Formats: sequence, structure tokens, C-alpha cells
Amino acid sequence: METDEQFKNKVEQYVGRIVEKSLEMVKTETFGDFHGSLKAGKMGNKFTDVKQFADSLVNSCVKDGLQEIHKLSKSKPILCIGICTLDFVIICDEYPIEDSKTLAIGNYWARGGNASNTSTVLAHLGAQVEYFGTMVDNQWLTFLQTDFKETGVCIENCIILNHEKHKAPIAPLIISKKKGTRTAIPDFNGIVGVTYEQFSSLDIGKYSWIHLESRSFEGRTDDIENIVTRIVRYNTVNNAGRKVLVSVELEQPNSTNPEFRFLFGKADIVLIGKDYAIDDGYANKEETVRGLYKLCKAGTILVCAWGEDGAAALVDDKLEVSPAFPPEKVVDTLGAGDTFNAGFIYAFSRGKSVAKALEFGCIVAGHKCGCHGFSCVKGLQRKVYL
Ligand code: ADP
Repeated sequence: METDEQFKNKVEQYVGRIVEKSLEMVKTETFGDFHGSLKAGKMGNKFTDVKQFADSLVNSCVKDGLQEIHKLSKSKPILCIGICTLDFVIICDEYPIEDSKTLAIGNYWARGGNASNTSTVLAHLGAQVEYFGTMVDNQWLTFLQTDFKETGVCIENCIILNHEKHKAPIAPLIISKKKGTRTAIPDFNGIVGVTYEQFSSLDIGKYSWIHLESRSFEGRTDDIENIVTRIVRYNTVNNAGRKVLVSVELEQPNSTNPEFRFLFGKADIVLIGKDYAIDDGYANKEETVRGLYKLCKAGTILVCAWGEDGAAALVDDKLEVSPAFPPEKVVDTLGAGDTFNAGFIYAFSRGKSVAKALEFGCIVAGHKCGCHGFSCVKGLQRKVYL
């Protein structure tokens, strides 16, 4: 069911389109000084008075906006499964020297975690998105829940754990203003991710795409294997309907979790992080996708993001590469990988090619690196020609 936040998001999109359309029309339909033209009641060579111009603008914008809303309301949500952390971010001029006293220049609390961040960016891009994971009912629960809701991410199926039995995952982070680097010191506190049984209570057909962050299944490969198998079976049984795509993210070093290798042969899209690739002995994104493709099934889209070097994807023997899109100044790379994943998922789920999705992922992630948090990517899908 559509939440208030999702509805709000759609309305925001609609208003955004009106504003953009207005600017576009002002640019294309009038020449020279807009205000002067308004006063004179002469709108370029098309409209003879202000009212005619305004009526045409409103009609056209309302039509476009409604069409957009119609399209959006028909699209099924993307489900992101994984960890939600409480991040404590400290911004320093530069990364501190060990055993020194360094004054911070700023700090903030934020909702973090890979799947949680990816869902945030997807919502900012205007996708319908749900996060499915566990949260602990401690004093921070309302903060996390409110943040999800205000961002427009549905959390109606999340599992709430008792604080007397579970500790919530936290992630202190240091951002260096000088280099824009982020150094994370997470404590996952033995976090319990969602189980296969809990996943089974969801109606798979409700979603267009299911994205899984492997970390939350550490030590529980059976759960993630059963989840993926259930989605594959759903697709086989419902072969007349639209396929529910499955993507998995493998980010932490391979040596930490070699048991996740089987996911290469199961998912439709596998998103590899640079740390995973380096730990596996690869030196760049192209080598990574070429080297690991042998583990994939035919047709799998294998993607690897590589920081300032952009990203690569391989589908069978077709290699696609995108450069990074650096902002004027890199201020915060925290969540760049999660942002890239969201950009890729968003564009591909909207029918764009692998090459376009790769490029869009890099554009959104590069844009994010130029600001703190994720809000700056809001509405970017409207500004970028996909
Ligand atoms: P992670 O957050 O997992 O370490 P990466 O550092 O690999 O992720 O970055 C993911 C994507 O973010 C890259 O593919 C790139 O598009 C973008 N990105 C990361 N760092 C930069 C940067 N310094 N300049 C521009 N884009 C960047």
C-alpha cells in the first residue's frame, strides 16, 4: 500500500516537473527579457498575451505531471534487504594522528548501512522503495524510523528486535575535509539480519526488484540462498508476468565471507565493491569483472565500482565502462558505493541499457561525493539525460 511519504514524493516530483517545464517554456517560447515581454504582453512569437501563455503552461504541465504520476503509480516498488545502522559522523579538517587530540569541525547522527543508504538514494531519485531489515527498539528507534519515513522509504515490514536481547549496530565515522575520505569503525554488534522465514511472509509479486546486501547474512548463507531460490522459483512459476529481478551486493573482502561465492551463479545482477575485488587479487574494475564472470550464469550482469576510476560491467562477453564524474570538490565519499548501486538499479529498472545505467550510477555517486549525506541527489534523475 502506498504510504503518505510515497504520495508526498510523487507530488514533489509533479511540482518539480511544473517548475522545470515552466523554465523550459520560458527559455524556448520567449526571447530576450522575460519580464519585459510579460509587461508588454508579448510572449516571443507564439503567445500574444500573458494569460494565453499562463494557460498553456498550466495545461501542459498538469498533463505532463499527471502522466508522470500515472507512470509512477503503476511501477512496483524496489525492495532493499540488509543492514540499517546508526552512524555517528565526525568531520575533521584532516584524518587525525593516532594518540593526538584533534578538534572536530562538525558532527551529525545519521541513518546508515548499505541497504538502508541504497533505499534512501532510490527514494531521492523518485523510485518507490521499501527497506526490509531489523531494527532494535532502543532509544534510537524513533530517529531511524522517522528518517526512513521522511525520506519516503516504506518500512512497514521491518522486524523490530527487543533491546534486552539485541544490541543495535552502530558506525562511528570520520570524514576528512581535506581529502573527502571516510573512515568507518562499525560495530555490527552481532546484528541479526532478516531470516528466510521472515522474508517468506512477503508477497514477492508486489516488487519489481529485490536487492540483497550480503553482509546481513554473514554466517547464515542458507537464509540468503533460500531467499534467492524462492524469487527464482516465483519467476519460473509466474513466467507470464514481469520477472522480479534479483541483485546482490558483495562489498566486504572476499576472504571474510568466501561462502557467498555461490551468489554469482544465482543473481541476475551482482554488484562488486572495490574492497572485495582487491582482496580477491584484482587490480582494476575491468580485470575484476572479466576474472569473476566465470562464476556467473549466462546473462548475469556483473558490475564493479572502483572509486575515482568509475565502474565497469560485463554481460556475457560485452564489457561496458564508465568514468567517474568527480564533483568540483570531493567533500564526503561516505555511501558512494551505495549511491552508485542505487543509481544503477534505478536506471536499469526504468529500462535503460547496462551502459546507461552504469553511467547514471557514476553520475549520481559523483554528485553525492560533492556534498554531505544524500539529499543533494534528490531529483537528479530529472536533470540528467539518461
Ligand atoms: P565505496 O563507497 O563502496 O568505497 P567506491 O569508492 O568504489 O565505493 O565508489 C563508488 C562509485 O562512486 C564510483 O564508481 C564512482 O562513480 C563514485 N566515486 C567514488 N569516489 C569518487 C570520487 N572521488 N570522485 C568521483 N566519483 C567517485
